[in-house]
Amino acid sequence: MSRRVVVVGAGITGLTVAYRISHAPVAAEVLVVETDPEPGGVIRSVRAGDLELEAGPDSFLVRKPWAMDLCYELELEGELVPQGATASQILTPRGLLPVPPGRLGVPASAIAVARWKGMSVTARLRAMAEPVVPRRHGDRDTSVGALLRRRLGRGATKALVGPLLAGIYAGDIDRLSVESAFPELARWEREFGSLRAGVRAKTLPVRRVPAGPATPFATIRGGLHRLPDALADALGRSRLRMGSTVVKLGREEHGPFRVVTADGEDLPADAVVLTTPAATSADLLAEVAPAASERIREIRSASTAIALFVYPKGTNRLLPEASGFVTPRGSMPITAATAVSKKWPRQAFGSRAVLRAFVGGAGLEDELDHADEEILSSAQRALAAAYRLSAEPEHAVLVRWPGSMPQYAVGHLDLVSAIDASLPAGLYVAGGAYRGIGIPDRIREAGAIADRVVRQG
Ligand SMILES: Cc1cc2nc3c(=O)[nH]c(=O)nc-3n(C[C@H](O)[C@H](O)[C@H](O)COP(=O)(O)OP(=O)(O)OC[C@H]3O[C@@H](n4cnc5c(N)ncnc54)[C@H](O)[C@@H]3O)c2cc1C
Repeated sequence: MSRRVVVVGAGITGLTVAYRISHAPVAAEVLVVETDPEPGGVIRSVRAGDLELEAGPDSFLVRKPWAMDLCYELELEGELVPQGATASQILTPRGLLPVPPGRLGVPASAIAVARWKGMSVTARLRAMAEPVVPRRHGDRDTSVGALLRRRLGRGATKALVGPLLAGIYAGDIDRLSVESAFPELARWEREFGSLRAGVRAKTLPVRRVPAGPATPFATIRGGLHRLPDALADALGRSRLRMGSTVVKLGREEHGPFRVVTADGEDLPADAVVLTTPAATSADLLAEVAPAASERIREIRSASTAIALFVYPKGTNRLLPEASGFVTPRGSMPITAATAVSKKWPRQAFGSRAVLRAFVGGAGLEDELDHADEEILSSAQRALAAAYRLSAEPEHAVLVRWPGSMPQYAVGHLDLVSAIDASLPAGLYVAGGAYRGIGIPDRIREAGAIADRVVRQG
């Protein structure tokens, strides 16, 4: 009899794990159990008036190859769309300014820092001196904020690099782990003695979508949900048990695991892969792997919300040619905004501006304690102030994402190793809480877990 594998959760991680297992040379019987009626997890769209807009992620990084490779494998390459506007902006006391050229917010040259008017002259001089700051010895993990302040100074950390890096995780740079969230920063310091030298070091050639320029991010025509949809089709929809919630994980003595659903199903499994959010995985593991369950509970997740706005005809031309902006912590009720109609232009938008704003995040969750209408109005006021946009939106939608952004605290890598070590054979956890939150990292980790499941058999 072939091995039975149950994957819990049909987000991009669970679907990729199941797809890889089902296509492995030694195939196992694989079943995916998912609460929602549709696959994709946080990859989904929402309607705003006549438009279908991304409610969660809107794109993936091209530089990390795993999402692009999967699109090719699933024959979606012809549907890949490069970014429209690529320039990022940042809110400063002088209004929106372009982020100086560089990587991860770290400017590539002293001239770029000297010319950047978003911070005081003293802050600029301090940041320009970054290459002469002695490198730190040892490889102990530290917070992103501590590393940035030490190397670039307080001014550049607060006004420039901090907001850009915090935005990616909806996090607090003083809690985020460098080694887990931005290992490049630690590597640049270790290998080159300075962040600026690291930014300038030769990088891999930028990949591009088949028809289009090389842009940092790409999406899929018709919406990112086409990726989980294609995975579900390639896997075979009969292997998906949609609308079914796993409520308990048990085990017969020396026998198979038992995956119990809310509708009373009791599925035997030789291997179980939990791709649920960390808090759910911790609950499900409480009986069969109490030590792992306790450690997983240490991983915190922040709550956020996305406010989407569609403005009247003629408004898109009022926006700058930029993909969006981030804000310094606490300066506005929103942490970042995407100019959707500039970054991902579509015929259906016509001449309308389409914007989305991010609210909440680690330590900023108070912003979410209001009614949807209030959050939408304050986000709208923030966008109006930043873009000097006086028009009222015709459609506004708020999508809440409670506990959806895992936070990698200092020491996260050790915690993940400890979790792995405390899981009994046949049990696996995967998802954004452990090894990278972006879609490419989700696909990479899913492939690695599938390999382990297959090899174990
Ligand atoms: C608002 C937002 C914006 C983002 N933007 C980007 C972006 O632009 N680019 C990027 O690369 N990444 C982005 N990310 C991160 C990325 O989208 C996620 O890390 C990734 O999609 C998570 O996939 P997953 O399969 O691990 O988890 P999920 O998508 O959360 O899937 C987990 C699944 O488990 C199911 N489930 C939960 N409990 C149970 C249960 N008891 N029984 C059965 N099923 C259960 C859930 O319904 C869900 O479908 C964003 C994330 C968010 C929240």
